[in-house]
Amino acid sequence: MQHDAGILMFRAEKGSHVFLFLKRREGWLDITKGHINKGEDIAKAALRETLEESGIDASSGMDKHFRCRLHYEVKSGKRMVKKELIVYIAKINQSAKVRISREHIGYAWLSYKKAMGEIKKGWQLDLLPRAEEYITRLERMSKLNAEYSALPGRVKPWNLSTAFVPGEGPLNAKVMFVGQAPGAQEDALRRPFIGRSGQLLTLLIKSSGLNRDDVYITSVVQFFPPANRIPTDKEIGSCRALLYRQIDIIKPKIVVLLGAVAAKEVLGIKGIASLHGKAVEKDGITYFLSLHPAAAVRIKSNLPKIESDFNMLAGSLLL
Ligand code: URA
Repeated sequence: MQHDAGILMFRAEKGSHVFLFLKRREGWLDITKGHINKGEDIAKAALRETLEESGIDASSGMDKHFRCRLHYEVKSGKRMVKKELIVYIAKINQSAKVRISREHIGYAWLSYKKAMGEIKKGWQLDLLPRAEEYITRLERMSKLNAEYSALPGRVKPWNLSTAFVPGEGPLNAKVMFVGQAPGAQEDALRRPFIGRSGQLLTLLIKSSGLNRDDVYITSVVQFFPPANRIPTDKEIGSCRALLYRQIDIIKPKIVVLLGAVAAKEVLGIKGIASLHGKAVEKDGITYFLSLHPAAAVRIKSNLPKIESDFNMLAGSLLL
């Protein structure tokens, strides 16, 4: 089996996007891709090949959550060679200049529809629909985030921090975690769950058999309430549509509600003392109730309780 890595690059055009294809002498449309050297990191191999074959440094626009694994066979002399190709996606600036190498005879920026019409067979037909679907989610999420980062200027009075802390993770995650609101460290770095509660959450996610990079993490309120106070009903109301629109974009199978604020907001449950560790089905989504990691950071005796919640979650994930 030969291992290759590549990047499907795209750029904004006329309110949508177009993909970059390199034309092969044999007449087919390729992406920038090539062999992964021994010991080389896969993403680095994809970036190296992309720079060599197109002259574009795609590192800043590469999406760290999308990775498409494809398998196919190519003829090499008389025998067929099995290939595994890992493809990333990267958004490229409209001003980026394409400089092709000798391997190709030209290039074209094609819309999804045009590319699907021109490509008659091959791994590209598996890759493109998956990339297109993910980019549609990216575009929706980036509009949503732009809208909500402007919220502090639109709501008067505004008593939360003005720094928007967007959700984080793959936009096609099967599992989503919803906390209460960012803390001071999250506010400073504009990333959810990176303080002490976040470190515990990362460990708990691992203990349930998942990876932090594979799940989407957000909170009911996505602006820091000064002095870490509980957000008011009015503040929760201001951010309400954001959470539900995030759920609608990601369409997770399981949403883990961390703590009383998330449980009350999403399921209308008052207090989760007797319900944490349990799952509730609603509108095709499994909502799983857990204590908030901050409860275990503050009061050590809560740690075994939250560990048990995540144990139960691990069981639900197996179903
Ligand atoms: N607690 C939360 O509920 N959300 C965060 O992002 C961080 C801590």
